[in-house]
Amino acid sequence: MTAADPYTAGGLDALLGDQPRYRRDQVAAWLAKGVDDPQAMTNLPTALRERLGAAMDDPPRILQVSEADGGLTRKVLLSCGSGDRAEAVESVLMLYPPSSERLAGADSTPPSGRATVCISTQAGCAMGCPFCATGQIGFRRQLTVGETVRQVTVMQRLLAGELGADGGTPLPDGAPDHVTNVVFMGMGEPLANLDVTLEAVRWLHGPFGLSARSITVSTVGLVPGIRRLQALDLPITLAVSLHAPDDDLRDDLVPINRTHPLAELLAATRDYLEATGRRVTFEYVMIDGVNTSTAQAATLRDLLTRHMPAGASHVNLIPMNPTPAVPWHAPPIAAQQAFADVLGTAGISTTIRANRGDEIDAACGQLYANYTAASGRTLPVAVGAAERISGRTS
Ligand code: SF4
Repeated sequence: MTAADPYTAGGLDALLGDQPRYRRDQVAAWLAKGVDDPQAMTNLPTALRERLGAAMDDPPRILQVSEADGGLTRKVLLSCGSGDRAEAVESVLMLYPPSSERLAGADSTPPSGRATVCISTQAGCAMGCPFCATGQIGFRRQLTVGETVRQVTVMQRLLAGELGADGGTPLPDGAPDHVTNVVFMGMGEPLANLDVTLEAVRWLHGPFGLSARSITVSTVGLVPGIRRLQALDLPITLAVSLHAPDDDLRDDLVPINRTHPLAELLAATRDYLEATGRRVTFEYVMIDGVNTSTAQAATLRDLLTRHMPAGASHVNLIPMNPTPAVPWHAPPIAAQQAFADVLGTAGISTTIRANRGDEIDAACGQLYANYTAASGRTLPVAVGAAERISGRTS
């Protein structure tokens, strides 16, 4: 059984239903400040702190921190749950200080400092995308709302200097002192843990105080989830992972495509765009010899031109990170640029993502995979898709 989750309205009621309203507000305010140890909630009576401590999940512990890009990228493996629910999840902190020279070749240079946290919504993932390290792990369990948003509050404390050496090396000069952006792009498919994702978005936008525009939710294409996200009526950014320009290839690279093929996915995406007024980002992982020919770029260009309003979408090309047990890699830079150039002929705005943290097992799920493999767990490996695709393209 999980402990009551005070990051949800229902969980707070369950924990504090017999208390006056202002006690609930006090607890909510502490949690929003990143204080999740009831003993540190100094304006609560001792008995209430003890009750909260007994009912709440243990605070997440940092199991591992890996740094890259001179400390601008920190990938953190966090514990969550205990007993037979004990798991580990990955979160990534990416710092974009103002005037950082390291950003010169990155996607875009932000006008002011930015601290973006990439969070997980599941331990492992059931979607089975064969190029993805998390897909190799398989599904472990859903995270709770608390386990999802506490990844953000841990990073908030890291930025505030409260974690000391546990948070890695000292922060670079000019680093923001608080979280400015959150992207739901870590382990798992956020819309496959939909209620938790929606609650987490509400909490980040509400008590935590992020603007909706600073929140991005990524999906491989769970159409019912996109519709529910739209119903939230918040201008959060939707990032749709396409990874293939046609249904045949996408059926293998993103197996949920067999349930929600491209035409259905793009119709839902277009509706989302029109309802929220937010430009949609399409993510496209570049896998050499699989989905990166100029003919495939032309197919993708025509697909987006057919289904999306002009100027309303942005394509983010992501050179594939090396992933254990996956026989693929990124194409040469010239091929990446040629692909982007074809999209540009239809005026589709495109960036080639500068891979953050290449030297720290950057692929989503990889830190976890290495950690669990080292502790003796077996990782299932998806090889069937690679064999099918290579059979079709050879
Ligand atoms: S790419 Fe995303 S949805 Fe696909 S297996 Fe990896 S984590 Fe899951």
